[in-house]
Amino acid sequence: MAARAMAARTLFDKVWAEHQVVPETADTPAVLYIDLHLIHEVTSPQAFSLLRSLGLPVRRPDRTLATMDHSTPTRSEQVFGTVPITVDAAAKQVRQLEANAAEFGVELFAMRDARRGIVHVISPELGATQPGMTIVCGDSHTSTHGAFGALAFGIGSTEVGHVFATQCLLQRKPKTLAVNVEGPLQPGVSAKDLILHIIGKIGVSGGTGHVIEYRGSTIRALSMDERMTICNMSIEAGARAGMVAPDEVTFEYLAGKPRAPKGAAWDAAVARWRALATDEGAVFDASVDIDAAALEPMITFGTNPGMVVPVTQAIPARPAPGAAQTVFDKALDYMGFEGGASLLGKPVNVVFIGSCTNGRLADLAAAAHILKGRKIAAGVKLLIVPGSQQVKLEAEALGLAQIFKDAGADWRESGCSMCLGMNGDTVASGQYCISTSNRNFEGRQGVGARTLLASPLTAAASAVRGVIADPREYL
Ligand code: SF4
Repeated sequence: MAARAMAARTLFDKVWAEHQVVPETADTPAVLYIDLHLIHEVTSPQAFSLLRSLGLPVRRPDRTLATMDHSTPTRSEQVFGTVPITVDAAAKQVRQLEANAAEFGVELFAMRDARRGIVHVISPELGATQPGMTIVCGDSHTSTHGAFGALAFGIGSTEVGHVFATQCLLQRKPKTLAVNVEGPLQPGVSAKDLILHIIGKIGVSGGTGHVIEYRGSTIRALSMDERMTICNMSIEAGARAGMVAPDEVTFEYLAGKPRAPKGAAWDAAVARWRALATDEGAVFDASVDIDAAALEPMITFGTNPGMVVPVTQAIPARPAPGAAQTVFDKALDYMGFEGGASLLGKPVNVVFIGSCTNGRLADLAAAAHILKGRKIAAGVKLLIVPGSQQVKLEAEALGLAQIFKDAGADWRESGCSMCLGMNGDTVASGQYCISTSNRNFEGRQGVGARTLLASPLTAAASAVRGVIADPREYL
């Protein structure tokens, strides 16, 4: 035991060991304790029904936090006015969560709460997301919280029920993958471009069965907003989660947040968090090296986030006959593109800036940098949706919202919105949408909608030009 305790461990190993109630065996998964359970209106109703049918309470309501985001309207008159929610299913989900939260004693940030927003935006904002925690939510992009050195991952509706009832989860222990990123990001190249490049390099299954730790000088130089963008999309590389070791950037972000520890408890927490970093000499199951200085702004051309190229490059040529060719043909047929064609200059119908990937203040500031004093092209619809009500207020106070409105953008209340279109904010069939969200799957933004994932800078530049554009032209 003494030798094992001395062995160099990764960040992931440390967090896992601290939460393992029962270790896994060949026949049974481990039992993992969960520190924070985030819930929303779409994946929780079934789990509450399960509790009700079993006559069970929520075991730790104090470790459970509910918000409304996936299907909520973004039009002010439906959020704060007297206009009812126009999408029936959404209205039902919102009412259902209100009733369930009241019945089971769960804290809820309801529609008009100033703390409401996308689940992965509000928890960090509150300081509820902290280093070393285990965090789950019935949403794939829970990996976002890994930016703080938490082990955070998405779970299914049935597992939401398990966590409600037991505050634990059955889990197989994943392997570890180090993604080492070195070198400065060039002007116009953002965290979104970096993660799109990583997914393009390792593929949409490259992280399967692993927890990624993002490491290296480039990652250390990123802000928390940028680290969240990176960790957010870990799931798009197939990884169970993504993590960044907590450091001064993390502590500075969390200091003074409403739910961060205070006084002596803060000092003790920081000492504990500091010790979470991967030990010198710890061994990862796999590793990948990335040269950040060589990166360019990236954009997807197909129907998964791994089908991605630098915005200045052409769509790749058709692969040789086989499974890859079938996937390529189907994707390009859906997108209305041809192998070898240039992406720059292709017409754009809609631009969406928002989501848990790029709906934070830094993302909006980046977009505003390009939109300031400019107008969006005729015929283009630009929808800008802040990740939370707090981001909205801050963006308004800083004058960003006015820049957006002056440019001709539609500025809305917070929510997931066009990331998945459950609230009626959709892209029409056949239209091209540059989106700062994380999934470009067929139909993700609406039936027949064609999604191209990119950074807020590329999205804003393309809105101004009305065609796919290189943001570096505007810097
Ligand atoms: S913004 Fe999109 S990816 Fe993020 S939580 Fe909402 S639906 Fe999920």
